[in-house]
Order: sequence, then C-alpha cells, then structure tokens
Amino acid sequence: MSGDFLALAQPGVQQLSPYVPGKPVDELARELDLDPATIVKLASNENPLGASPKALDAIRAELAELTRYPDGNGFALKSLLAEQCGVQLDQVTLGNGSNDLLELVARAYLAPGLNAVFSEHAFAVYPIVTQAVGAQARVVPAKDWGHDLPAMLAAIDSDTRVVFIANPNNPTGTWFGVDALNEFLQDVPEHVLVVLDEAYIEYAEGGDLPDGLEFLSAYPNLLVSRTFSKAYGLAALRVGYGLSTAVVADVLNRVRQPFNVNSLALAAACAALKDTDYLAQSRRLNEVGMQQLQTGFRELGLGWIPSRGNFIALDLGQVAAPVYQGLLREGVIVRPVANYGMPNHLRITIGLPAENSRLLEALAKVLARG
Ligand SMILES: *Cc1c(COP(=O)(O)O)cnc(C)c1O
Repeated sequence: MSGDFLALAQPGVQQLSPYVPGKPVDELARELDLDPATIVKLASNENPLGASPKALDAIRAELAELTRYPDGNGFALKSLLAEQCGVQLDQVTLGNGSNDLLELVARAYLAPGLNAVFSEHAFAVYPIVTQAVGAQARVVPAKDWGHDLPAMLAAIDSDTRVVFIANPNNPTGTWFGVDALNEFLQDVPEHVLVVLDEAYIEYAEGGDLPDGLEFLSAYPNLLVSRTFSKAYGLAALRVGYGLSTAVVADVLNRVRQPFNVNSLALAAACAALKDTDYLAQSRRLNEVGMQQLQTGFRELGLGWIPSRGNFIALDLGQVAAPVYQGLLREGVIVRPVANYGMPNHLRITIGLPAENSRLLEALAKVLARG
C-alpha cells in the first residue's frame, strides 16, 4: 500500500465522491460551440437578477484597499447582522459561504468515534464535512422526500454531536413547520448541536415556515446558518453566517481561518443587507417564476415536489438522464440529482421569466422527440 495515496487517505475520505457542481456556462459553450450569451443556466440556485447594484458599488469602493488584509473580525457586517437578527455581536460567526460554517462545526465537534445525523436527500456538503473529519454519517431515510424528524431523533445516540437539518431542504425543496421544529428541538439531547441550515429562508419566510432565530434563546444547542449566496445574489463572493450562543460562536472562531471572509465580500454583504428593495424584488421574481414553471409542467403532464426554495425538483421518471442531455443540447443547463438518491428528478432553479420560458420550450421539444 506504500505510495497508494487513495488507500492512505482516512477511510471516511476514501468513501466520499467530490461535490459535483452545476455545469458552467463556458464549459457547455465550448463543448457545443455555442455563444455563451444564448445559454440559460438554471442549475445552481443562483439569483437570476444579478447582484444588487449597491453591492457592486460597495465592491468598487473597496478595491482601493485590496493590498490590506480584510477585517478578520468582520465588525461592520457582524454589527449589521446582529442588529437585523436581534442578537449580540458575539453570537455571530462569519463564514466563507455558509458551507464554511458547516465545516467549522464538523472540525470543532466531530471526530472518529462520533457521528452526525442528517436526512437522505439532504445537502451534499453534510456528508463531506462529516466524513472529512473521520466521523460517521448517519443518514436517516426521508419521508415524502422531506426530513423525517422523529426518525432523526431516534437515530441520535450518545456519540452523536451534530444534527444537520435544512429548512427548506436542497435539492428537494421540502420544509417542516413551526410545531415540528419545536417538538424536535425539545427532544434533542442537550449534548447535540442542531445546525438549522436556512440557506433559502429569505425565499421561504412566512406562513407555517419557522424562523430559526425565534428559537435561539430557548435552545442553546441551536446554530442557525444563513448565506448571501442565494436571495442576496452574491454566490461568487463566498459569504455566509452562523447565529448561535456566544459559547458556540467562540468555539467556531477558534477553528476558523483568520481571514476567512474577504474584504470585497464583507463590503458587498453589508450593502446587500441594506438593499431591502433588491431582496423584495428577488422574492417577487421567485414567486412569479415558481408559478410560471408549475403551470408549464402541468401543461406537459409532469409532476414535481412542492418547494419553498428558489428551485424545484421535477419528476421525469425513467427519462431524467436523457432529458438532462437533451436540454443541454438546447443550451439549457439544469441539475441532475441522481447523486442525491433522486435519479428520476432534475432540479431546476427559478430564472427570469424569459429563462423559464426557454426551459419550458426546450423541455417540450426534448420530450416530444422521445
Ligand atoms: C446553497 C446552499 C448553501 C449555501 O452555500 P454557500 O456556501 O453559502 O454558498 C447551504 N446550504 C444549502 C442547503 C444550500 O442549498
């Protein structure tokens, strides 16, 4: 085995497969010799509006300081977040995307001999961060595509340190309500940190969907993670945040890289947070687009999983893989989710109205071809 650097990797890492991102526009353009401007990408749950102009202005203003290290404590952004979320500054942890937060949790609380509990069809980063530190991933079968919270409770044992739950979940779009979350948090043992991943909360807010912040004061073992990558339209900059007790935040800050969030991201996130019009517009656009796609799917006789995110998992049965390829040839990129245990679905991000129309037309064409 000497020199076999796959076999030498720790067992949890050997069993991982690399994260598969949505196909980049330029890659498809090269492969099919297409003009990138004609390609529609609805594959990575990005905000189709583009970044807020105010965030772009903030980035330009920050360029003059590029030679300096960023503020490693992210004071300005943390202050804004603390105020908006109704928490103290020392309860906020900033991350290089919210994925960074998930990794900080794993590095601080998981190790060989310990385990993390999460659902089948849950976000791909949960197994990555868990197995990367040699901990066991306990995957609990989903119920109607969503998290089966009572079954997840039952999977917790004395070696469990973390439970990852996403509300709404990606890639299914499924969600759980206020009562379900309350019951779950009441029954989770105190030694288990519950990571409530609210990457899509800005799209989902309202109705029966819980706001994790409202549970923070009652549950010291709760960490809420959020991101600027989705509704705030800053995916490329990599900035997210966690809200928890000051004790958990202090632990996470011990393991994070000193300058994990760059200065352009910090400046843009501050500006984006203040641009409430942009956020409202993003939400409206998503609602309209969700209706447009569902109407189109209905006309095509297709089923889907009801979603509260900015994406929808479309059920194509046996032909999901060939339809994905057919859509690529039409210049439309969506996301296969077979690696999430969903070989019959394609995940489609809600785009601009014209992009949604392109997708629906391409879908009709590909399906008609058979
Ligand atoms: C997109 C997404 C994230 C956010 O990732 P970033 O690192 O913040 O870009 C986190 N959780 C889920 C479930 C997601 O879908």
